[in-house]
Amino acid sequence: SETSKLISSAQVATSVSNVVKELTENALDAGATSIQVKLVDFGLEKIEVRDNGCGIKAEEMKYAAQRHYTSKLRTDKDLLSLLTYGFRGEALSSACEVSDVCITTKTRYDAYSTAYTLDSKGSISLSRPSHLGQGTTVVISNIFKNLPVRKSYYANSKKRKEQLKLTEDMLIAYALANPSVHLSLSHNKTVIWQKPACKTLSEAVVNVLGSAVSQNLEEKKVQNCEKTVAIHAFVPKKVILRRTCDRCYVLINKRPIQEKQIDKTIKKMLGKGDSEKENNQSGWPTAILSITLPTDTVDVNVNPNKTQVMLTLKEEVLKLVENLL
Ligand code: ADP
Ligand code: MG
Repeated sequence: SETSKLISSAQVATSVSNVVKELTENALDAGATSIQVKLVDFGLEKIEVRDNGCGIKAEEMKYAAQRHYTSKLRTDKDLLSLLTYGFRGEALSSACEVSDVCITTKTRYDAYSTAYTLDSKGSISLSRPSHLGQGTTVVISNIFKNLPVRKSYYANSKKRKEQLKLTEDMLIAYALANPSVHLSLSHNKTVIWQKPACKTLSEAVVNVLGSAVSQNLEEKKVQNCEKTVAIHAFVPKKVILRRTCDRCYVLINKRPIQEKQIDKTIKKMLGKGDSEKENNQSGWPTAILSITLPTDTVDVNVNPNKTQVMLTLKEEVLKLVENLL
């Protein structure tokens, strides 16, 4: 029913930062090497994500924003070894339910781009030729127009600023996961954060954290004997710095994730007790762990946000994290 659709959409499009995350994942899945995120009035007026990826074919545009449409899974088996950020086919359809959506796109085979206006069901209500280059630009305006409680949540300017910080933090994680991609975030026409295309994770770390922070980090690479788990990490050099480590980025197969036991192990090893405030967002990140696992040992389909994971090799991962730190 209409109501059940709104209920599930509201769980995908939970916040401004989460909508930006979904659009950024789509851009990365499309093979973009450059992604520009622009927000107007903290994203409440407008969220725009522009990429130079493969674009969306005209035939596919009919389905792209339909509920549960995804081009990323061919069979059930694909779900067991995911290579893309997206697979649930919910982001665009959810955005259409709770906001006004316009998608401008051009594939390498199209002579010009087309701007599509979508209705709340994700169907095309209007299309016209446009002038943009190859890639896709998604514009979301009037977000949460039919979710009054969520809309009023942002009436509080502290909450709006918090969302901007969360958006920046989320983009930093994706920037670290994708060193070769150029990423930028603007707010009301001012660029507030950006990362150029980099050759290595190490170069990306310097660019994202600045040289002052990154010179206090050391690069480490470890593997288990079976070579099923590999970790590429940047961790604080000195004990004193370890004690101030208040922000860790954990990536599993390039996906920024939250895993309680891994976080706990990192905190324990870096000298932060359990009692201390979790999810501390203040300050700069001082530890980065990029973990590589066989794709068929990772299950990210635990919640619609895809930030929680279940791992077959969790014990091995935890052991390796302890060794590393
Ligand atoms: P999912 O990412 O889970 O497949 P989405 O609702 O996020 O679901 O997107 C639906 C489909 O629209 C994608 O599978 C993809 O084919 C297409 N799509 C969305 N965004 C882009 C983009 N930026 N570039 C190219 N294709 C896109
Ligand atoms: Mg997606």
